Amino acid sequence: MPRTPPRPCRYPGCPGFCLPGQVFCKEHIMWSTDRVRGGADARGYNARWRRARIAFLQKHPLCAECQREGKLTPATVVDHIIPHRGDQRLFWDKTNWQPLCKDCHDKKTGSGQ
Ligand SMILES: [Zn+2]
Ligand SMILES: [Zn+2]
Repeated sequence: MPRTPPRPCRYPGCPGFCLPGQVFCKEHIMWSTDRVRGGADARGYNARWRRARIAFLQKHPLCAECQREGKLTPATVVDHIIPHRGDQRLFWDKTNWQPLCKDCHDKKTGSGQ
């Protein structure tokens, strides 16, 4: 039985093939992570935040607000204690992060009502 052929790299015009589980070839994986570090690209920024968020929730798996009330609820949201309002330093400051469940986050931001 033939193996599934590797998918082509997503970089425009690149003749290379993706690394397993990736959407870029070996060369353009670097290109994509460079863009993440630069932070200028919105998608790269989102990817960085997604990774940071997951790592944070792995370390802090319970909702901080629920814990205060003695409840144990899995946290699904990383909340900024002080609203960052686009301030990059505040945004990436882990001491300004807290794990919240969706209910508590909605309550705090008022988007749940
Ligand atoms: Zn490529
Ligand atoms: Zn909660």
